[in-house]
Formats: sequence, C-alpha cells, structure tokens
Amino acid sequence: MEWQSAVNQWRSIVLTLWQRGITHLACCDLCSVTVSDNMKASGNAKQLLVCSICLDELPIFNCKAIQGDLLHWPAIDKGLPQRHFARLLSLAPYTPPFDTWLKQLKYQGRFELAPFFAELLFKQWQIANEVHPYEQVDLVISVPVHIRKWQTRGYNQAHLIACQFAKKLQVPYQSDLIKRVKQVDSQVGKTGAERRKALRNNFILNNGNTAKLKHVALVDDVVTTGSTASEISKLLLSLGVHTVTLVTVCISLPTIKKCP
Ligand SMILES: [Zn+2]
Repeated sequence: MEWQSAVNQWRSIVLTLWQRGITHLACCDLCSVTVSDNMKASGNAKQLLVCSICLDELPIFNCKAIQGDLLHWPAIDKGLPQRHFARLLSLAPYTPPFDTWLKQLKYQGRFELAPFFAELLFKQWQIANEVHPYEQVDLVISVPVHIRKWQTRGYNQAHLIACQFAKKLQVPYQSDLIKRVKQVDSQVGKTGAERRKALRNNFILNNGNTAKLKHVALVDDVVTTGSTASEISKLLLSLGVHTVTLVTVCISLPTIKKCP
C-alpha cells in the first residue's frame, strides 16, 4: 500500500540519520537548508539556527579591525558621547537579519535566539580578547526592565541573553544587582540629552555588594544612544566598580549601517 511504503521510507531515513549520529534536524533560519547537529562534531557550529554558510556570512563586526573595542571606531566614539562604560563589544549593526531576530526575541518570544546570540557574543569576546586582552570579569549583569514592563511582557530579553553569555564566560551572573525604579515612556525618537534627563536616578543598587567587583560586563540587546547603559555604569562606578564593559547584540546608530 502507498502509505506503508511512505512509512517505510521515513523509517529508513530516520534510521540512517540515527546511525550517522544525527538526532536533531532543523531548517536554516535564513536559507531553509537542513541544519543537523552533526555540525557540532565537525566544529562548524554549535547551534541549529543557521547553516554554516549563512553563519559565515552574517554581518558581524570585525573585532580585529577595531582593536577589540568598538569605541575605537570614530563613528561609534562620536555617536556615544558622555558614556560611563569603558569598552563596547557588539555583534552587528541594527540591520537584517539581526534587527528581525531581536524583534522576534523581544516581542514574539523566540527564546532559542538568546543562546544563539550568547554563543556569537562569546566568540566575539574571545576574538576581542586575543587582540586586546580584557581584565578578568567578576560579574555579568543585564539592563533591567521595570517591574510593570516585565509583568506585561513576561520576560526581559537582555536577561535571557546575559545569563547564557555568563555561562559561556564561566563568570557569575546576577539578575537583580541593579533595579529600575521608574517606568519611562518609550525613548524611541528622543535625543541623547532627552534620554539622559528621563533616565536620571532611574536605577538603584537593589541586592548585593559591589565592594569586590572590579570589572562588570553589562549586557543589553541593543545600544542606541547609550544613555541607559551609561546611567547604570555611572551608578556602578559610584559604588566602587572599576570598569564596566558594555556587551550588546546590536548597535543602532544612524552612522553605522555596515561593518568595518
Ligand atoms: Zn543558511
């Protein structure tokens, strides 16, 4: 019978894959080609979201060209004035496919993107470290959302990325070190000065001791004017932290549309 032949065919495919050690199959998010977890063994990738070809073609910043710190790039240095973080590590400009992926994580709950970003960030961190060694990170934290925003959305995308990133880095992660105390309206379209004013005294030390912290990695999904990250960094520095490194998936600056 026709259906029996179809079942047999499927059984044969599954058996072959199993014999080859392939237990998971997925489609590449960008080109739809089949991605299998045998890529792990070949060392091409440790994720099943995009195939190795698309992975190599992602528009990721060339860390070596900017000596391991995006603040060395004049367009970024100029676009992020009055900042209190010492270094910036990001994956890509806020352009496709990263802009779509970030929206999917933030608004559609595509949680598998968080470990994917964390893995790419860790890889970027390692490259940056080779060029310009970072001092040992004592703690990873994420930019907190206000409790009301958290209640509406149900999660904080920066937290999801940060805890996975900390695991990769093998550094402790604390989600509640800093608390956001004011609910601020959307800052989209506002200038840096307007954002800074709105964010003043917006963050407090919530839980824990910063006395022994020298270097903190602050994780966010995207940096736009840098005001939020800067406000948190300012607070951390006032509490005795020596250095804050900002780690974000994307940079959304009008002057940055492509990688160096
Ligand atoms: Zn692909």
